[in-house]
Amino acid sequence: MIRLLWTLLKVGLVVAAAVWLAQMPGNVELRLGDLVVEAPAGAPLVALLFVVLLAAFAYRSWLALRRAPQAMRFGRAGRRRERGYRALSLGMVAVAAGAADEARRRAREADRLLDGAPLTLLLAAQAAQLNGDDSAARKFFEAMVDEPETNLLGLRGLMAQADRAGDRAEALAIAARAQKERPGTPWVLEALFNLRTANGDWDGASAALEALAGRKLVRGEDLRRRRAVIAVERSRLAEERDDRAAALNHARTAWKLDPSMPAATARVARLEGAAGHGSRAEKILRDGWTKAAHPVLGETLAALWSRLTPAVRFTQGQRLLKGDTARPETRALLADMALAAGQQAEARKLVEPLAGEGAPARICRLMASIALGEGDTDGARSWLARARLAPGDPAWFCRACSAMSPEWSGACPHCGVFDSLEWRPPAPPAPGQAAAIAAIEQELETENAALVAGPSKTEAAREA
Ligand SMILES: [Zn+2]
Repeated sequence: MIRLLWTLLKVGLVVAAAVWLAQMPGNVELRLGDLVVEAPAGAPLVALLFVVLLAAFAYRSWLALRRAPQAMRFGRAGRRRERGYRALSLGMVAVAAGAADEARRRAREADRLLDGAPLTLLLAAQAAQLNGDDSAARKFFEAMVDEPETNLLGLRGLMAQADRAGDRAEALAIAARAQKERPGTPWVLEALFNLRTANGDWDGASAALEALAGRKLVRGEDLRRRRAVIAVERSRLAEERDDRAAALNHARTAWKLDPSMPAATARVARLEGAAGHGSRAEKILRDGWTKAAHPVLGETLAALWSRLTPAVRFTQGQRLLKGDTARPETRALLADMALAAGQQAEARKLVEPLAGEGAPARICRLMASIALGEGDTDGARSWLARARLAPGDPAWFCRACSAMSPEWSGACPHCGVFDSLEWRPPAPPAPGQAAAIAAIEQELETENAALVAGPSKTEAAREA
């Protein structure tokens, strides 16, 4: 619009100038021999204006003609590039949709049209991966590493490949190279953290975590938890190399960061106890128990009191956990101690209220032990049979791979995922499995009943 107004203004000015010149008063006379031409005074100027305009038009036309081949060439290259980028985007879409053949075809097309532009390497690598051709993908990623624009992307591709192949050492070497070339790249730091924790390199993992924290990539609750888990593992490593001071220091750090973490509480209490701080250890265990009543704390307490007689241990336990007997975990722990001290009646008083319908396996086993201690073999058998049918006891299960671990560790021993172990009961069997298990359990129950009935029959036969 502005351009149009500007053009109209220019035309208007030229016309106005021409009219003004044509209307100038006076004459000009041009004599060529006998020929005399007479014209108004403005005519030569109008003619001059006309000549200038004509010359400008001629010059423009000549320029346009001279540039035509180049413009045509540019136009062709532009269209080619456009087709190349179109092939590239369609290829990326095909990769995302998992269309392997289409992705490969588009990758070739893009490579031909764009003369091997760096981004076509990425498409080629992804298409190769989609086609299951890992060695081709690797070559493309390596070519990307050589290009400054795609260097980091290439390293990321190579690292992911090594990780998928289970070659953690190779993945770690690539991540370290990426860190050297582009320090502080978020995914590189996160990869270094994950690979080092999976590898059990807890000092290295701590350095990677602090780098992540320094860039505010990990913060708040997540940062606190990660630091606590790492501190527990560093304490374990220090203890393994017999550096007790460092072991206790790391354990204290972990416990301060997360006092609700049973692994941290049990570790710091055990090390405090070993360092001669028995009452501090007891207090730590008591506080830890109120936050998360985990069996490992009961075991640590038992180890701390290993020099006491079972009867004294039970009295001490009652003293320490006074006021906490509403919780089933506390009752079970105290019942264990009572049983060890041979006080079946005390144990029964503690556990019986928990042994109703749907009692967990641990409680059923405790009831069996109490019955056995009281000389009631049949009762013990019946409780053991119930324990088999009862909901399973909690254990450490990995959130990532579901594998069970006998004890807690900072990274899953099966898949290496950091802080993935959770304390929970085993998952109930799938609906199909449930029926089969119920049938087997029914069989066991019948067998069990026969066993219980067995001796009395023999006795009856003997009597007869
Ligand atoms: Zn796992």
